Amino acid sequence: MKLFLFQTGVLKCRENDIKMNASQEPYEIPVPWFLITHPKGNIIVDGGNAVECASNPREYWGDICDIYLPEMKIEEGCLNTINRVGIDPNSIKFVLQSHLHLDHTGAIGRFANATHIVHRKEYEYAYTADWFAKSGYIRADFDRPNLDWNFLDIYNHDVYDVFGDGCVLIIPTPGHSPGHCSFVVNLPQSGSVILTCDAVYTQDHWEDKALPGFLTSAQDTVRSVAKLKAIAKRTNALVVMGHDPVSWVDMKKGAMGFYE
Ligand SMILES: [Zn+2]
Repeated sequence: MKLFLFQTGVLKCRENDIKMNASQEPYEIPVPWFLITHPKGNIIVDGGNAVECASNPREYWGDICDIYLPEMKIEEGCLNTINRVGIDPNSIKFVLQSHLHLDHTGAIGRFANATHIVHRKEYEYAYTADWFAKSGYIRADFDRPNLDWNFLDIYNHDVYDVFGDGCVLIIPTPGHSPGHCSFVVNLPQSGSVILTCDAVYTQDHWEDKALPGFLTSAQDTVRSVAKLKAIAKRTNALVVMGHDPVSWVDMKKGAMGFYE
């Protein structure tokens, strides 16, 4: 079993888009996504931006490019990366979605044998988002025919165990979006790794020094960080944050830099 960290380039934005009430200075964040190889089948977590953003982001994402401008290469697209590193796309059994924001949906519908797992609340909200959240959901990414979905109804301290063996756990962490979930990957040598996804944007957010620049519930956001901190403390986990330009530099990334 291995965990690989990839990214679909960066988003160019301003600091206060990522840290509430911070400066208007330009700020650049990585767009991570993950591959987990497992004897029972391989998993993509999120999938970054849709590959369409490599050629014409404004056509695909619309005016939200004024706030978050994606910069990625075609070869960084999720399916292109999987092919490039020699993983059979048909071996992808699950696509796990932390949530359905546009910089996380690049794997949906790209893997023929995959079941897509997302919190039911997130899926419903993606179609019924409030005015301030609407532009973060690109319907073309998730409103596709013949997708195999598994909608989770998990709350509070529920945990969904993907293979039933404790290796990949889904934890509800709402706040950034109504149905946001994070992931705990338990590896034989590296131990526990928490993929917070957007439940924790940056180190400042993790340390209760800043709220994220986007959320649907401040209270849930803060409580989800507290929940993940408790898990990290209990398991001595490596914490991989959602869009932290600083700690991302030191992570093992790409096909050669996996955790196992
Ligand atoms: Zn998000």
